[in-house]
Amino acid sequence: MTDPVVIVGGGPAGMMCALLLARAGIGVRVLEKHKDFLRDFRGDTVHPSTMEVLHQLGLLERFLQRPHENVDGAQIRVAGVDYTIGDLSHLNVAAPFIAMMPQWEFLDFLRDEAEKFPGFQLEMEAEVTGFTEEEGRIAGVQLADGSHRRASLLTIACDGRGSLVRRQAMLPVTQLGAPMDVLWFRLPKHPHNGEKLRGAVDTGRMIVLIDRRDYWQVAFLIPKGAADAVRAKGVGWIREQCQAAFPELDLGGAGGLESEADLFLLSVALDRLDTWHRPGLLAIGDAAHAMSPIGGIGINLAIQDAVATANLLWQRLAMGRPADDLLQQVQQRRLFPTRVIQAGQKAAQDNVIGAVLSGQPITRAPWPVRLLNRVPLLRRIPGRIIGLGVRRERVESPLA
Ligand SMILES: Cc1cc2nc3c(=O)[nH]c(=O)nc-3n(C[C@H](O)[C@H](O)[C@H](O)COP(=O)(O)OP(=O)(O)OC[C@H]3O[C@@H](n4cnc5c(N)ncnc54)[C@H](O)[C@@H]3O)c2cc1C
Repeated sequence: MTDPVVIVGGGPAGMMCALLLARAGIGVRVLEKHKDFLRDFRGDTVHPSTMEVLHQLGLLERFLQRPHENVDGAQIRVAGVDYTIGDLSHLNVAAPFIAMMPQWEFLDFLRDEAEKFPGFQLEMEAEVTGFTEEEGRIAGVQLADGSHRRASLLTIACDGRGSLVRRQAMLPVTQLGAPMDVLWFRLPKHPHNGEKLRGAVDTGRMIVLIDRRDYWQVAFLIPKGAADAVRAKGVGWIREQCQAAFPELDLGGAGGLESEADLFLLSVALDRLDTWHRPGLLAIGDAAHAMSPIGGIGINLAIQDAVATANLLWQRLAMGRPADDLLQQVQQRRLFPTRVIQAGQKAAQDNVIGAVLSGQPITRAPWPVRLLNRVPLLRRIPGRIIGLGVRRERVESPLA
C-alpha cells in the first residue's frame, strides 16, 4: 500500500496534521496502535490557541458542541491562603477559555472532520514497529503484523514521548530532567464549586484539582521515582492529604480513589530531539519534545506543530514532490516556542516544585503569586502565556 504521506500515531499532532494535509488535497494515512481513542488521564486541556485554529478552519462551533467545561481562571492555595493567579477571560480570541474536554472526544472530533476529505485514511490497531529505507531515505513503515505501508513523499512520527524514533535511536534526544512524577486519580465531587483550576501547595505537598463536572481529576505530585513509597502509604493516606489541602470540599464517598488500581502514574519527562528530521522522516509533537504537565500545554504545542508542518510542506507535497529540504524549516519554526516553554517549565520545576517536594518549609506564597492576586490586571499575563503560547500558528494550508 502506498500513500503520499504516512503518519505514525493518531494523537493530537497526528490527527490535526492529517486533517490539514487531507484538507489541502494530499493523500495521508494515519496508523494508530490502539483500537480506539479512549484513554483516561491524558491531556484534556484544549487552550484558546488550539480553538483559534479550529475557528480558522470553521470548526469551532461544532467542536464546542462536544461535552466540555470552560475554565477561564486559576486559583492556588499556598500555606492555607487562597490566591487568584490567572485570567483568560480578556483574551481577544474566539474562545477566551480553556475547554476541558476528554482527549478521546477531541480526537473523535478530528477524525470525524478529517473523514470528510477523500485523501484521509485512518487505520486503528496498526502498531508500527519499524521504518523502511529506500536509497538512504525513510520510505514508510513496518507494522507489528509484518505488513508494510509505503510513503512516497514523507513519513511523520507523531507517536508521542515513547516514539520509535527515540527507541530505535534514529534521532538523538537531550534530556532536560524533571524532579517529579504525578499520580492521577479521581475524587468524588459533591456540590458545584465553580469551574476553576485549584492548586494547593504546603510544605512537602502539592496537589491540583481539575473540575470535571461530575468528579475532581486530581494531580498528586510526588518526588521523581517515589511512586512505590507513596503507594506503600496507602490510598487512605493520599485521600487524607487531599482532604487536608482542601478542607472545605467533601472529597469522600463512593466513586473515588479506593484502591491502588485507581492510581495512574505519569512519569514526567522533559526532553527534545536534537534534530527532528532525516531524509523522508519528520518528528513533531511529543515525539519531538516531551513536555512537563505544567500549564497543560502539551496538546496545544502538538497542534501548533501540526499547523506549522502543513503550512510549510503542503505546497510541495501537493505537487507530488518530496519535501526533505523543507523539514529543517519546520524544526526551525517550532524549536523557538518549544525552547521557551520548556525553559519556563524547567524553571518552575526546579525552583518551585522540586523545592516543595523536597520538604522545604512553605510559610507563605512567593511575591509573584501575591502580586498577581493583588493586581487583577496582571493576571492576564499568565493567562495570555498559557492560553496563546509563544509563537502562534495561523492555518495557511488551503482547502483544496
Ligand atoms: C497522564 C498525562 C496527562 C497529561 N495531561 C496533559 C494536560 O492536562 N494538558 C495537556 O495539554 N497535555 C497533557 N499531557 C500531554 C499531552 O497528552 C501530550 O503532550 C499530547 O497528547 C501530545 O500529542 P502527540 O500527538 O504529540 O502525542 P500523543 O498524544 O502521545 O499521541 C501519540 C499517539 O501515537 C500512538 N502510538 C504510539 N506509538 C505507536 C506506534 N508504534 N504505532 C502506532 N501508533 C503509536 C499512541 O497510541 C498515541 O495515540 C498529558 C500526558 C499524559 C501522559
